[in-house]
Amino acid sequence: MAPRYDFDLFVIGAGSGGVRGARLAAEAGARVGIAEKDRFGGTCVIRGCIPKKFLVYASAFPEEFVDAVGYGWTIEGARFDWPSLIQGKDEVLKRLEGHYRRAVEVPGGTIFDDRAVLRDKHTIHLVGRDRDVTAETILVATGGAPSRNSGIEGQELCITSDEAFELKKFPDSVVVVGGGYIALEFAHIFHGLGAATTLVYRGNKVLRGFDEDLRNALQVSLQQKGIRLALDTIMTSCVKAEGKILVTVRSGETFLADQVLIAIGRNPTTRGIGLEEAGVKLTERGHIEVDRYSRSSVENIYAVGDVTGRLELTPVAIHEAMCFVKTVFGGVPSAPEHELVATAVFTRPEIGTVGLSEAKALERGHTVDIYKTSFRPLKHTLSGRQERTMMKLVVDAKTDKVLGCHIFGPEAAEMVQLVAIALKMGATKAQFDATVAVHPTMAEELVTIRDKHATVAPD
Ligand SMILES: Cc1cc2nc3c(=O)[nH]c(=O)nc-3n(C[C@H](O)[C@H](O)[C@H](O)COP(=O)(O)OP(=O)(O)OC[C@H]3O[C@@H](n4cnc5c(N)ncnc54)[C@H](O)[C@@H]3O)c2cc1C
Repeated sequence: MAPRYDFDLFVIGAGSGGVRGARLAAEAGARVGIAEKDRFGGTCVIRGCIPKKFLVYASAFPEEFVDAVGYGWTIEGARFDWPSLIQGKDEVLKRLEGHYRRAVEVPGGTIFDDRAVLRDKHTIHLVGRDRDVTAETILVATGGAPSRNSGIEGQELCITSDEAFELKKFPDSVVVVGGGYIALEFAHIFHGLGAATTLVYRGNKVLRGFDEDLRNALQVSLQQKGIRLALDTIMTSCVKAEGKILVTVRSGETFLADQVLIAIGRNPTTRGIGLEEAGVKLTERGHIEVDRYSRSSVENIYAVGDVTGRLELTPVAIHEAMCFVKTVFGGVPSAPEHELVATAVFTRPEIGTVGLSEAKALERGHTVDIYKTSFRPLKHTLSGRQERTMMKLVVDAKTDKVLGCHIFGPEAAEMVQLVAIALKMGATKAQFDATVAVHPTMAEELVTIRDKHATVAPD
């Protein structure tokens, strides 16, 4: 008997979540189709994590050159060429895009380079081809896009992170608007590569939602580096002036810059793709509402990744997709885990964080022991850099379990990945203490912090 539908699974969007879902379902023997309207790989590969990390690496060299002097080096004639960096980045991304396509094609998936919209709960319309296909199960993995400050005069003069990766010329001066991780990473990239950089943010402290000690440490570091901060204010207009852009903020202060990057958040791609017509419910913020198995309000339509607004990170989108395939094609109901997800902010130095912030732990009713250390890394005793590293453990006072670990310092992202394993295993502070240190490292501080800074109880 001919199958009832063209595909067992149709995936809309070939980003981190969509590609993983399509590949694993095809490997499990499902007949899979996937549509991508832009480039395979999605945000992470094309205009997110990967190209960003290249820019982060590039922007770290100038400080390394300065630090090297303390170690006896003389560095002369170091010059930076933005077009070479962008060209190198583009070549790698092209290769990665190919890997992602093959990951779906090799196990037998069918790729449609096309925009897809839902006609009804089993029918997908491929816009460019003007053709309909049907599927038993549909996975929506359409991700999101940067929000633009649409109410602002002259907002069309500004760029978002999408365009920042494609600039033809490196700007001498930049205004970055926003206080989240993307704004901060770009402020460090531009500043590190030599642009006079100003950060405009409506709050009084950056990185809302992160542990207060991380936020404080980063804020001090921003000032020490010379990234100009315009806090507690918002941009009100942008106009062309002297071949640049004149930014005015609410207080009336103005900044002249070659580029203005808006990084004020991201919107889910849920409008105009037939979701409401198919009966899929959206949340107030426009994300797809899903249950713990990533199933939407329509029983055969699932959603993973940024479009669901749970935790907007690549490994989370991938994890959700893996759980989806296990649930639907593996017969094992699997709910993705959103607790204890380690994450990083690639500022300089970096932030690595996992588990509960002190405030979140208190909010959840834990009485917590706080262990903290702040020190100048050994490397900087010779380099002369005044930068400090901060490490903090949030420990449940009753059970001694480590609830959160927050690091601000070089290689914090690498460190916190490993700490996450210990936390996942339910490690206690006593077990951290019983672990013999690796010396001399920065990470050894994590197993040698003995002095309790404070015990804090919920209000
Ligand atoms: C600047 C930046 C830096 C980031 N850095 C990090 C980081 O360091 N670490 C980290 O973990 N995360 C990072 N992220 C977040 C990460 O990129 C996302 O969480 C991740 O890409 C989400 O994957 P996804 O599959 O949900 O969506 P996406 O990767 O956004 O993929 C969605 C895909 O769907 C396609 N699509 C949309 N609508 C349709 C349609 N109708 N038809 C066909 N195709 C469609 C889009 O073109 C896109 O390719 C960063 C994001 C940005 C913007």
